[in-house]
Parts: sequence; structure tokens; C-alpha cells
Amino acid sequence: MASIKKDTTINEYQDFVREVYGLNNDRYFNVGDMLTQIQRFAMRGLKGIRKDDREKIKINLLVSLSWFMSLLNQLHIKIENEVWKRFPYLCSYCGSCPCCCKEKHVKERQKVFVDESKRPKTLQDFQNMFNKIYPPEKRSQQDAGIHLAEELGEFSETILTYLGRHKDEDFGNIALETADLFSCFAGVFNSAGINLAEELSSMFSENCHDCKKSPCQCSFLEIMEYES
Ligand SMILES: [Zn+2]
Ligand SMILES: [Zn+2]
Repeated sequence: MASIKKDTTINEYQDFVREVYGLNNDRYFNVGDMLTQIQRFAMRGLKGIRKDDREKIKINLLVSLSWFMSLLNQLHIKIENEVWKRFPYLCSYCGSCPCCCKEKHVKERQKVFVDESKRPKTLQDFQNMFNKIYPPEKRSQQDAGIHLAEELGEFSETILTYLGRHKDEDFGNIALETADLFSCFAGVFNSAGINLAEELSSMFSENCHDCKKSPCQCSFLEIMEYES
């Protein structure tokens, strides 16, 4: 049986998604299809923000994030490393913790020094890190949601560019945007007071959250018609 533990690392979460959903993903979905699924559920999560419905935010963003892992598995991008390289306990733009982009009107991306001793171990540690870099009390939940939409747009652009040209530099940009998008998921979860590792461990306590099998045996139609 496959499951996610509360002390899961980001790598373990990504591997869990491969173990449970890799087979169906390979058979049914290409990169473009998975991108659409990430967007579909992220937008539902945003609707949850507009309606102030925490449950709707939670389930839809957990599903969106898991599709994100599926897409990254297909591209063989290990997200944990990308997140750490881009956010080494510092804002990737102003290079501070907490972020001071707004106060200092930072106009150029600053060089950041990576202190390996600060690297978070678990997914929970990473969520805590983002809580410190981008304190939720400094912005509204709506703003966190808008930022997520922005970054999802930028991530989508890099995917579409890569699919059009298959250049190495375009692939490198996907990796960078991957980290930014993850930081925005963490931002919304922090704003909504949702403990990501805890919620994933209860959603994925036993294999696929829907059919409870591993590998997932949901049919294509069931996946397409899944509503939370
Ligand atoms: Zn900043
Ligand atoms: Zn299933």
C-alpha cells in the first residue's frame, strides 16, 4: 500500500504520485493534458477563495498540486531541488527573509547566497519556510490567489514554449517556473491556514484518494468527471 506520511518530504510526495498515478498518466495523458488539469483544479481553488470556502480551496488545490507532480514526473524534474535552489530560505527576488520587495521597491533580481545548513527537510519544513519568507498576514488571501494565477500563467507559457521548440534553455525555464509556482501554492495554503503535509496524509492515507488502489484504477471517464 502506498501512503503519504505527515513527515513526508517533497521528493517522497512526488514519488508517491508516480507510484500511484504513473500508469494512468502514461496511458491517458500528455504534458498538455496534465497542464490543463493543473489549471482546471487551481481555478476551482480560486473560486473557493472568492466564495470564502476553505474546503473548496483545500481539496481543489491539493488535486491541482498533485497533477503538478504528475506533469513534473513526466518531464523528470525533481521539484524539491528546484524549490531549494530558487528559495534558499530567502525571497528569490529581493534575497531577504521576510521578503521586502514591496517596502524597498526592489526592481532587479538580487543574487542570493545559499546556506545549505538551512535547507528544510520535510514538506512541512518547506511550508514553514514559505510562511517566514512570505508572512500571510502581510497580504490578503485574494492577493495570494492572484499571485498563484499569475505564476500558473507563467509556468504554462514556459511549457508551451518548450513543447513548441524543444530547446534546452526552454526546459531550464520550466524548472525555474516550477519553483515559483510551488511557492505560490504554499502561499495560498499558508493564507488559508491549511497544513499541506497533514491534509495530504489524510487524503492519501491509502493509495489513490478516489479508488483506493495503487496503481490507481480510476477509468479515464472517472478522472475527467472527478468533481470535488
Ligand atoms: Zn522579496
Ligand atoms: Zn484512482
